[in-house]
Amino acid sequence: MPPRTRPTPAQEPEKLNEVGTDELREWFREWLAANADRLIPYREPEPASYEEADELHVGLLLLLAEAGWSLIGWPESIGGLGGNLVLRGVVYDELAAAGYVLPERCYPVEILGPTLLRYAPDLAVSYLPGLITGAEMWCQGFSEPEAGSDLASLRCRATERPGGWVVNGQKLWTSNAQMSTKCVLLVRTGTPESRHRGLTMLLVDMNTPGITVNPIRSAAGANHLCEVFLDDVEVPADRLIGEVGKGWEVAMYLLQFERGMYAWMRQAVLHHRVELVRHQMPGPPGDLEAAVLGEMYAAVSTLRARTASTLSRLAAGARLGPEASIDKLLLSRAEQCVTDGARRLLHPAVETGSGEWAAYWRSAWYFARAATILGGVAEVQRSIVAQQLLGLPR
Ligand SMILES: Cc1cc2nc3c(=O)[nH]c(=O)nc-3n(C[C@H](O)[C@H](O)[C@H](O)COP(=O)(O)OP(=O)(O)OC[C@H]3O[C@@H](n4cnc5c(N)ncnc54)[C@H](O)[C@@H]3O)c2cc1C
Repeated sequence: MPPRTRPTPAQEPEKLNEVGTDELREWFREWLAANADRLIPYREPEPASYEEADELHVGLLLLLAEAGWSLIGWPESIGGLGGNLVLRGVVYDELAAAGYVLPERCYPVEILGPTLLRYAPDLAVSYLPGLITGAEMWCQGFSEPEAGSDLASLRCRATERPGGWVVNGQKLWTSNAQMSTKCVLLVRTGTPESRHRGLTMLLVDMNTPGITVNPIRSAAGANHLCEVFLDDVEVPADRLIGEVGKGWEVAMYLLQFERGMYAWMRQAVLHHRVELVRHQMPGPPGDLEAAVLGEMYAAVSTLRARTASTLSRLAAGARLGPEASIDKLLLSRAEQCVTDGARRLLHPAVETGSGEWAAYWRSAWYFARAATILGGVAEVQRSIVAQQLLGLPR
C-alpha cells in the first residue's frame, strides 16, 4: 500500500495552531515516507568535502521549505507559517532519526534568526526569509585571536561616520564564513577599556569590499572554520542590531539559542549516531560493548531530557540564566562520549578505516574534540555552575 499523504504545513498552515508534538511527529514521518525517493540523496553519510556537503544540503532545505516544514515556528512577517518553535524541533529530531543529514545551514538559522527578530525587526523582515529557507548561510563573528573566553576584550573596531560605520580588525574561528552572505558581527564602538559596555552588533554583507576570508583546514579535513580580516569595511547605519553600546546584551540573548535549539539539534544527531553504532558493530554486543553503548545512550538521553525542557522554556519566552551552562556541559559530554564509544566499538574505523562510513566517524570524532571549546569552553561553564548555581567560592 502506498504511504498515506496529507496536505503539507505549507498547504495547511492553520493546522499548526492546533497540532501537538506527537501529531506533528506522525505528520512529518508520513511526509518522509511518501517522499523517500526524492530524499535518497540526503541520506547519511554525506560527502566528505565540506563544500560539496553544503551544496547538497541546499537541495534538502529547498524541499523542506517548499513543504513548509522548516518554516514552522517562524512568524509570517519573515515568510514563516506561525506555530511553535518546539514543533520545528520535532522536525529536526525526526529528520536525524530517519537517517537524513541535518544541514549545517540550520544551525545559524536557529541561533541568529531569533536574535534578529528580537533586536532588529526591520532587518529581520528584509533578510531572514533568505536565511530560514536555507537559500543563504550566515556566520557569527565574535571571537578574535586574543578574545575568545574573554570576549569582552575584543578589539575589532567600528568607527561611526556619516551614514554608518567603518570597521577594522580581525575575527577568528568564524564558522562557515567562506560560504556566508552575511555576518552578525560584534565590534567595539566604545573605548578600549570599556569592556562589554563598549560593544555593538552589526549585520554585515560578506561581499563588502575590505573583507578577506581565509578558511582554516581542521584536523577532520574540513574547511569549517575561518579567519576573517576587515579593512575599512563600510557598514550602513541601518545595519545596527540592537542599540549602539548594547552589543553584549544582544550576544547574551543569542547565546540562549545556542544553548537551546542548537543543543537540541545536536542531541538528535547524537541519538541517531548511537543507533548507527549499534547497527554497524561487527557482532552482537558482549558485556563490555553493552556497557559502552549504555554509557553513550545515557549521555544522550540526559542531554535530550535537559534540552527538551530548555526548548520549551525558550518557546514560552523565558530568558535563560546561568543554568544554561549545564546544557552546554551535557552537550559537550554527549558529543565526546558518543564518538569515543563509536571509536571503540567500530575499531579501526576512526583510526585507519577506509570508505565513506569510516570518513564519517573520523570527522565526527574530530569535531567532538572541539565540543568542549565552541560556544564557551567547558572550564568557564563549570566555573559558572560552581559560582553562580552552587554558590561555591571563586
Ligand atoms: C568548532 C568551533 C566553531 C566555532 N565557531 C565560532 C563562530 O562561528 N564564531 C565565533 O565567533 N567563534 C567561534 N568559535 C570560537 C569559540 O567561541 C572560541 O574558541 C571559544 O570561545 C574559546 O576561545 P579561545 O579559542 O580564544 O580559547 P581561550 O579563551 O584562550 O581558552 C583556551 C583555554 O584556556 C582555558 N581558559 C580560558 N579562560 C578560562 C577561564 N576563565 N577559566 C578557566 N579556564 C580558562 C581553558 O582551558 C580553555 O580551553 C568556534 C570554535 C570552535 C572550536
